[in-house]
Amino acid sequence: MKISTSLRALASGATLGLAGLLWSLPAAADGELTVYCSVQEEWCRPMVQAFERETGIKVNMTRKSSGETLAQVKAEGANPRGDVWWGGTGDPHLQAAEEGLTVEYKSPMLAELQPWAASQAEQSGYKTVGIYAGALGYSFNTEMLASTGAAEPACWADLLKEEFRDEIQVANPNSSGTAYTMVATLVQLMGEDKAFEFMKGMHKNVNQYTKSGAAPARAAATGETLIGITFQHDAVTQAVQGAPVKVVSPCEGTGYEIGSMSIIKGGPNPDNAKKWYDWALTPAAQELGAAANSFQVPSNKGAKAPKEAPDLSTIKLIDYDFAKYGSKDERTRLLSKWDAEVGAAPK
Ligand code: PLP
Repeated sequence: MKISTSLRALASGATLGLAGLLWSLPAAADGELTVYCSVQEEWCRPMVQAFERETGIKVNMTRKSSGETLAQVKAEGANPRGDVWWGGTGDPHLQAAEEGLTVEYKSPMLAELQPWAASQAEQSGYKTVGIYAGALGYSFNTEMLASTGAAEPACWADLLKEEFRDEIQVANPNSSGTAYTMVATLVQLMGEDKAFEFMKGMHKNVNQYTKSGAAPARAAATGETLIGITFQHDAVTQAVQGAPVKVVSPCEGTGYEIGSMSIIKGGPNPDNAKKWYDWALTPAAQELGAAANSFQVPSNKGAKAPKEAPDLSTIKLIDYDFAKYGSKDERTRLLSKWDAEVGAAPK
């Protein structure tokens, strides 16, 4: 009999004092899994339900943005509580790998993945893997724009225009992987000095730095802001639900993410973590994204890309340097610089 089972049996006939003691013990390690989920809650939940249904494993799920999850995994480093970190931009997953917070795992599913997903695994020493891809961009509310009479924005440069004063929303790159992808993209597109000049100039037009990366797309959809900078698929999510938004792939070119998954080092349920990992790389699990209105490009070659997913082959993508911008030193340096020169700047 497993130790956890015998403890439970004992508890049923135990005195109140013993039961109280047992309830304070950690949860049984054979039938549970704790997943830190960094995509939208609407996609996290059906993933958890489908996995529970197929395996009988009880999943405890917490949804947090990518940068926040990295901070949590780091803070819990001495006493890890999570098993798998599923979703969110790749850069913080790569940083977690570098910092030894996640473990190497060569899933038998690796052979079925797109080259960009497999290369994410390879360059991290198999401590993370690509689960989806998506390009950065922005969306604008067409009704609000029409009422201002301004021309349709089409480029990053348009976001500096005086007519968009207080009309742009983007997340804070400390909490949000999306916003960090924007910082790293602009640095790669323009060079670091010009990128920071650009972000300082755009700061005047930003009405709010949100915690979550996709929130600005929802705000543009509801008219709380005219422009929201997000991944393009996040804006498509709003458009397919009938919101008056148009998605922009900036004319200068743009960056992209390799959304990733990692197994947390020292987590309480390592075997179940591997079960989730292998399952999450199957076509059936990856196709749950589209059903939840999430339109990233899936990493399994056999998974159908949703027809609504922005076609990466038609977008002017930069050659995003994931090794550099996912490194601890570069990410930490850029975030400190953003805090000092952009986030803290007067309007
Ligand atoms: N939600 C969706 C739909 C995403 O595509 C991504 C990117 O990985 C995220 C959330 C990440 O969110 P955040 O920018 O809040 O870390």
